[in-house]
Amino acid sequence: MNAEILAVGTELLLGNIVNTNAQYLANGLAQLGINVLHQTVVGDNEARLIDALRLALSRSDIVITTGGLGPTGDDITRETIAKVFGRQLVRDEHSMKVIRDYFARTGRKMGPSNEKQAMLPEECIVLQNDWGTAPGCVVEQDGKSVIMLPGPPREMGPLFDQRVRPYLAKFSDAVIASINLREFGIPESTVQELLDDLMKGESPTLSPYAKEGEVQLRITAKAATEEEALAICRPVAEEVKKRLGTAYYGENVDSLQEVVVKALLEKKKKIAFAESCTGGMTAGRLTEISGSSEVFECGIVSYANRVKHALLDVREKTLQDHGAVSEETAAEMAEGVRVRAQADYGVGITGIAGPGGGTAEKPVGLVYVAVSDGKDCYVRRLLLGHSGSERAHVRYLSSSNALDMARRLIIGLPQPDGTVRVDPPKLQAPTSFFGN
Ligand code: ATP
Repeated sequence: MNAEILAVGTELLLGNIVNTNAQYLANGLAQLGINVLHQTVVGDNEARLIDALRLALSRSDIVITTGGLGPTGDDITRETIAKVFGRQLVRDEHSMKVIRDYFARTGRKMGPSNEKQAMLPEECIVLQNDWGTAPGCVVEQDGKSVIMLPGPPREMGPLFDQRVRPYLAKFSDAVIASINLREFGIPESTVQELLDDLMKGESPTLSPYAKEGEVQLRITAKAATEEEALAICRPVAEEVKKRLGTAYYGENVDSLQEVVVKALLEKKKKIAFAESCTGGMTAGRLTEISGSSEVFECGIVSYANRVKHALLDVREKTLQDHGAVSEETAAEMAEGVRVRAQADYGVGITGIAGPGGGTAEKPVGLVYVAVSDGKDCYVRRLLLGHSGSERAHVRYLSSSNALDMARRLIIGLPQPDGTVRVDPPKLQAPTSFFGN
């Protein structure tokens, strides 16, 4: 069973909006075990839409269109599909009532053009839209189905999940399921070498997706049920974890910050950040995660040396002797913020994000990250990025490294190679923000 996605809209062609509907549908169809062999985008133009539809119907069993079901003149999907199938548009009274109710419920005034949205190809299967006005519908003919869905993703998504999935289930004899693993710290090329033999497998398949210093590994199998498909994936997932060692950080998780928050919640511990070159990015990433308020004490963005000293107790002598970008300053920032915030863990990040500010001794991309729990303090010297254009990259990777080191400290894993252990530095005036 093959399906094809046909997104309608000139905005998509011009690049004004991104075709997220296609991504959503492709993903959903894959879960149903339906192969998507083509995706097409076509503008709001009748002749070209007819061509695209005919081509799609010549090669695919199911064609799903999105967009062009609105009330305005350039919304032509409904009329064009009816024309291709040689059907009349007839008013669907139930849809008309749903549209009227929708306007009444949302307190908006209904115009005559909205009635157009209840005009559907005769003998179609109506997909009631409880999330907007335009109903979707399915037109079946000669063993093929065209499924029309509205363009707005907040309508298209639930319509697909709640109306189209049950309709399509009858065509599918298999389910695709995946296990997603994530690692941080092993470069993509090394991951490829480590997992080369597993990547050649056909059931399950193993695919790497690299992004910003991380690799996501998706293990996928097809079977009659989700449980069976997952059981096929499991042994490979466990083998991948074993080979990745401590760089593996989570199964079916979205980010390092999610894992850090989870670990802190489990241990009932709190964290605080002192950030220089990352400007609060690490604190920002942590607070993306729901539940972070229970584990996150504070983040200090300490750019100026004066602030590092006044707010974090970094010694003036340390700043003079070693500079703001140094192992010693990073360690004092981590321990300083930990003590001052009365947190269990402190993280310090200081570096040169560029493009300016680098020297031969301290080049752009030089970053020190430190984590401390009051007993042990670990500091890592990183050299990130190679050119001035990589400021965003240097900052993001610094923050990711800090989250990874925090993760390791919290759950008791060794720190990455090259990390130095030091005794937590004695602070100049070890008082908390709360005066004790
Ligand atoms: P409406 O009743 O809102 O006009 P419609 O079915 O006619 O619905 P379009 O007019 O084609 O849909 O698109 C409405 C909006 O939905 C677009 O402006 C865009 O924001 C969003 N949209 C449309 N198609 C897509 C798509 N393929 N991916 C992501 N967003 C989309």
